[in-house]
Amino acid sequence: MSGSVKDKIIIVTGAGRGLGAGMAGDLARNGAKVAVADLNADNAGSVAEQIRQAGGDAISVGVDVSDRAQVKEMIAKVVEKYGRLDVLFNNAGISQTCPFMDVTEEDFIRIYKVNSLGVLIGTQEAVRQMRAQGHGGKIVNTASIAGKQGWPDYAHYCASKFAVVALTQAAARSFAKDGITVNCFSPGVVATELWKQLDDDALQHGITSKPEQLITEFSSNILLGRVSVPKDIVGVTTFLASDASDYITGQTIMVDGGMVLI
Ligand code: NAD
Repeated sequence: MSGSVKDKIIIVTGAGRGLGAGMAGDLARNGAKVAVADLNADNAGSVAEQIRQAGGDAISVGVDVSDRAQVKEMIAKVVEKYGRLDVLFNNAGISQTCPFMDVTEEDFIRIYKVNSLGVLIGTQEAVRQMRAQGHGGKIVNTASIAGKQGWPDYAHYCASKFAVVALTQAAARSFAKDGITVNCFSPGVVATELWKQLDDDALQHGITSKPEQLITEFSSNILLGRVSVPKDIVGVTTFLASDASDYITGQTIMVDGGMVLI
């Protein structure tokens, strides 16, 4: 990659495990100073420790991305430690397998609050900080194939991820004049712990009858013939944080092995 993330100060939310942990690790390997932020502060602490043991520079922060006061505090801690904020990854997200007719208002609001409101709050607070610094920045949001198409057993999750794409486009148009780019990327199926929960939900709702049937069936049409792991995604996420992506804004980059072709 010709661009660099070296010495960039980067926050990754939802980085206590899964995709976010992979993204934070790759950024650190490439020389970024990373804040590993997660609702689960212990997990965030372990990921940051692993990064430091591998020779990288990382701190951990406990945060609920849907709580503005906590998001402000997260940014303040990072600025206190490293002096500024260059890139925010709004990656924290939750999901649920649930047939359309069974989605409750509580389910809808719970998922929307983290996946969509969390992105709004994170973007606003990062922009506030980046504007004060006066030299631009980058915001990268984790969308999904579910942000491009609606699936029957993920209506609320899809709605929350379509919102991520909308927020990305609106923010790109709002903050280009501040030198702040805003992009998102859309994974397809990433084998993380999230899928264990989706698999359990599917069994409970009678959508599937045996463990792992959900991921197997959902993945059967991936053109590249397999589900992904975080390693498959981090080339794009580190690129989106790097100088190499400076002329890209408002975009959604699909990293799904060929599930949604648009
Ligand atoms: P995961 O469940 O393994 O990890 C998500 C992390 O987010 C957890 O550590 C969790 O503690 C944290 N989190 C949850 N709510 C939070 C909150 N309110 N504030 C801060 N942190 C919170 O999931 P993952 O598979 O790594 O997913 C990461 C992102 O990628 C999510 O936005 C998800 O929707 C998206 N995504 C995942 C897949 C996939 O197949 N795994 C596909 C497309 C998109």
